Amino acid sequence: MNIILLGPPGAGKGTQAQRLQAERGMVQLSTGDMLRAAVAAGTPVGLKAKAVMDAGQLVSDDIMIALISDRLEQPDAKGGVIFDGFPRTTAQAEALDAMLAEKGLKLDSVVELTVDENALVERVTGRFSCAKCGAGYHDRFKQTRVAGVCDACGSTEFKRRPDDNEATVRQRMAEYHEKTAPISNYYADKGLLKRIDGMADMDKVHADLAAILNAG
Ligand code: ADP
Ligand code: ADP
Ligand code: ZN
Repeated sequence: MNIILLGPPGAGKGTQAQRLQAERGMVQLSTGDMLRAAVAAGTPVGLKAKAVMDAGQLVSDDIMIALISDRLEQPDAKGGVIFDGFPRTTAQAEALDAMLAEKGLKLDSVVELTVDENALVERVTGRFSCAKCGAGYHDRFKQTRVAGVCDACGSTEFKRRPDDNEATVRQRMAEYHEKTAPISNYYADKGLLKRIDGMADMDKVHADLAAILNAG
């Protein structure tokens, strides 16, 4: 089963994708994580993407489409993927359709997490993750069980994203409205779009998502 999680920055896409990955063996394909890895490794893509990401703008469609196309070639992608942060433009959505058709893969559901935008700045500015395993946390909404220790791997090192500041979040929300929101209609027209309440607590969002997957 292959699904897309849609929603603005801070909607909870990564949180839900990590949980589906752990519980169902689906593979989370986070284009944001891929780009951050490229930036850290200093690859040509990373060098191009860094300033764009820091400004809260979208990296070019060409780069993103190539990145996802390569990633889908890896064998683990055959067992079911969760697209987290891709597609973000109509051009990316169209390219994804073509890629999936060519690889003999099918899109089962597109799930949009609907959120109250007023909550997003706090969600994003309070976000941090384990430096070792990537598990996601929040200063208020998802603290580690033991202070300063990752629940998943026991590491005591954490990191915050340079773009998770208020000014950049507002720019990313503007980009979302202008360029990404229109793809909801693209998938609604195909009969694939489902919406769930992203303001509910994480377990409820997970249960709603699981119900969609189990029905499909
Ligand atoms: P996205 O991947 O859509 O940008 P994240 O999954 O990283 O969003 O969530 C953003 C922040 O909000 C994280 O720190 C996460 O722990 C927290 N969060 C995610 N889902 C919820 C929720 N349903 N309620 C409260 N906080 C949440
Ligand atoms: P969030 O989880 O807060 O929505 P991401 O980690 O998905 O953020 O993305 C971080 C940044 O990486 C984006 O602001 C953008 O600059 C870039 N990015 C990630 N995915 C894409 C994409 N599909 N198209 C263009 N830019 C992307
Ligand atoms: Zn960890």
